[in-house]
Amino acid sequence: MKINNREKSARAFERACNVIPGGVDSPVRALKAVGTTPVFADHAGDACIYDIDDNRLIDFCMSWGVFILGHNQRDVTSAAVAAVEKGSSFGMCTEAESELAEMVRAAFPSMEKLRFVNSGTEATMSAIRVARGYTGRDILVKFEGCYHGHADHLLVAAGSGAASLSNASSAGVPDGFTKYTVVLPYNDSAALEKYFAENGDRVAALIVEPVACNMGVVPPKPGFLEAARRVTREHGAVLIFDEVITGFRLSYGGAQQRFGITPDMTTVGKIVGGGFPAAAFGGRKDIMDMLAPVGPVYQAGTLSGNPVAMAAGIATLKHLREPGIYDELERRSNDFCARLEEIIAGKGIYLNHCGTMFTLFFNDKNPENFADTKRSDQKRFARYFNNMLQRGVYVSPSQFEGNFISLCHTPEILDYVLKCIEESI
Ligand SMILES: *Cc1c(COP(=O)(O)O)cnc(C)c1O
Repeated sequence: MKINNREKSARAFERACNVIPGGVDSPVRALKAVGTTPVFADHAGDACIYDIDDNRLIDFCMSWGVFILGHNQRDVTSAAVAAVEKGSSFGMCTEAESELAEMVRAAFPSMEKLRFVNSGTEATMSAIRVARGYTGRDILVKFEGCYHGHADHLLVAAGSGAASLSNASSAGVPDGFTKYTVVLPYNDSAALEKYFAENGDRVAALIVEPVACNMGVVPPKPGFLEAARRVTREHGAVLIFDEVITGFRLSYGGAQQRFGITPDMTTVGKIVGGGFPAAAFGGRKDIMDMLAPVGPVYQAGTLSGNPVAMAAGIATLKHLREPGIYDELERRSNDFCARLEEIIAGKGIYLNHCGTMFTLFFNDKNPENFADTKRSDQKRFARYFNNMLQRGVYVSPSQFEGNFISLCHTPEILDYVLKCIEESI
């Protein structure tokens, strides 16, 4: 199933480059890291995106993990269309916000109260502000290679799109803006305990991707998240699980349900908006009640809790909370990964996976942290990406990203993809 040439995409890219920096509204879409030019999408359904050159691409990026039900799922689309027809924004409260908030809380009991925002970036930024307001402290601890959106003080060793660039962080961020951000290696409980033993009483919050996904998928080693919980509790710091990717993905209740660890605050995004711009931050009631208009921490948004996004989120979660969905996803993913392990054995490629998220690393071992993932062979990855694209499969376009299996990735599709991987590595 060879794809057509991508002439229309090439022309569309030229046009875009004249008016949008690099032709893209988010850097990884440019496909620069894999030495090619962007795919311009036309429409999508189930596990596939159809580009403007009439190619059907089996998608493993799934809008960076948003579409766990598949693209353009019928109930989600109908709910969104119905909401648009009633009015797409009111600048007033709607009952849909409470309905979705109650559903999120039912899934994540640790989010006793929560607030909706428009993006994961806003969610983590706001959660950290609340944590600082609550503790009256300044220091934020994060882990190398974890991405928490593009707020200034978080663009330090930020993985993901930033990891493909030569400068690991970003220009335009004054030193002063990051002076309270402390970066520790992921999966290193000893380093974490040492830092907190010496400085813990000055730490406002520790933020972590409970399964790292923005340096490629890197699961936590046994004991690592437990250590994060223990040191923050001992020192009165707020533990924030950034579940923007893992929420509603690793289980209905995210990584915290899967691993049985309760953070003080949580951010969710991606899946919760059903393909529209919505995310949320929440946590313990006493912490969340620091927010205006109840408390002194300011946070706001013109389109926050947008009724179209709320409707799409509600429709998505209604589907996901049906019994058996996550068991089915897990079964399919485990089977796929087991067969993938056989294909890559002895070839200098290692598979990291957790639930429906996986990354193939062109590396000499299974990476456990950012230093490991950065040693991957990006040229080999680029060849693999382009070979897959030629066969009509769109894997996430960077060595530092995860791939996502949805309910629409049927066993037949996964069989075909395994064959493509075998030919492409
Ligand atoms: C995607 C992501 C974000 C940022 O979300 P945006 O909606 O892109 O701003 C934050 N944290 C994690 C873990 C993410 O995967």
